Amino acid sequence: MTFSNPWFIAALVGVLGLFHLEIIATFLNLAQFRHALPQRLKDIFSDETVQKAGEYASQSAKLDLLRSTASLAVMIVFWWSGGFGWLERWSAGWGWSAIQTGVGVIGLLMLVQNVLSLPFDAWDTFKIEAEYGFNRTTVGTFIKDRIKGLLLTALLGGPLLALILWFFQTQEHAVLYTWLTVAGFSIVMAWVSPRLLMPLFLKFQPLNDGPLREALLALAARLKFPVVDVSVVDGSRRSSKANAFLSGFGKNKRIALFDTLIEKHTQAELEAILAHEIGHHKCRHVPQQLVLGLLESGLMFYLLHAALQSHAFFAAFGVSSMPLGLGLVLFSIVYSPASLLLGLLSSALSRRHEFQADAFAKAACGADPLMAGLKKLSVDHLSHPNPHALTVWLHYSHPPIGQRLAALEG
Ligand SMILES: [Zn+2]
Repeated sequence: MTFSNPWFIAALVGVLGLFHLEIIATFLNLAQFRHALPQRLKDIFSDETVQKAGEYASQSAKLDLLRSTASLAVMIVFWWSGGFGWLERWSAGWGWSAIQTGVGVIGLLMLVQNVLSLPFDAWDTFKIEAEYGFNRTTVGTFIKDRIKGLLLTALLGGPLLALILWFFQTQEHAVLYTWLTVAGFSIVMAWVSPRLLMPLFLKFQPLNDGPLREALLALAARLKFPVVDVSVVDGSRRSSKANAFLSGFGKNKRIALFDTLIEKHTQAELEAILAHEIGHHKCRHVPQQLVLGLLESGLMFYLLHAALQSHAFFAAFGVSSMPLGLGLVLFSIVYSPASLLLGLLSSALSRRHEFQADAFAKAACGADPLMAGLKKLSVDHLSHPNPHALTVWLHYSHPPIGQRLAALEG
């Protein structure tokens, strides 16, 4: 451990800075509950709902704080007690190739992280979400989901990781090849995920013939959006929180509505929500997010390449040789502040897109049904009625309800 190593200082300041920034944001956000709500929001959120939302937010915040404190403590203790150097020597003893060792080390650390996060996730689902009436997941489904998630990560992420390590091990233009591979992978996943991966977790069934199906198809036709399939997803098996999504490239668009959404909303509201989702496609939001994501990952791989060439980078973590796989893990620590900064950009873009999709839905169906739907969703989900700007900035992919309603009224 050396305070003269710039990588060491960068990693330490970054990790501690992020931790404290999150704490400040959390406290400011909870303090918002003590301020009176603007009139627009008072009409939607009863005093009782505000109080309940405040308790829900504070319980979730306490758990998050506990989780981030524990994870920071584990990381710093492991780092400063020479854990990474030990991992380097231990994995070198496996006698595997650099790529095999890299995949092994990263897989092992991800598994450990998964196991350590288990009690926090379980507490969230079975204690907090259950207390507020959201949870519908059984212990069996919870465990099965986790195992399926791990297997998928290993099956899809393992070969991708091996390929990336191989590029960095053998290719002069590793950054370019890695970037192209990740770009291709993201595009393939956008296609594969709703068709092959989501059905592993959720059950898709065609929406029954009837007025709702006809209205949704008519709306899609009116907006010149070629829908081939409308399905219902059994989201209610896990949570009472509602959701909607759309997927598809080219001429094969699929709409999937969570059964919980259909349960709670009127036909006019569902049409407005569908119009909003179609708005995302019409305004080309998905490719824009993809491009921004690829620019970010290009920068990340470039910096990764620079870090992997530096002895000081490894030395900052007490690692004496330059093992590739461990290098990726250490880089994720150094990179976390940059990742946060770039995340601000993509959530700002996403919030902008939400306004645009809302405007599209307003033009298609009028403002009222969407506003009614948004109000219902916020109240039902016990969303923070008036989140602090710092929290919105850091974490919100959607603008707060007050801003969306104001934009729809305007
Ligand atoms: Zn949206």
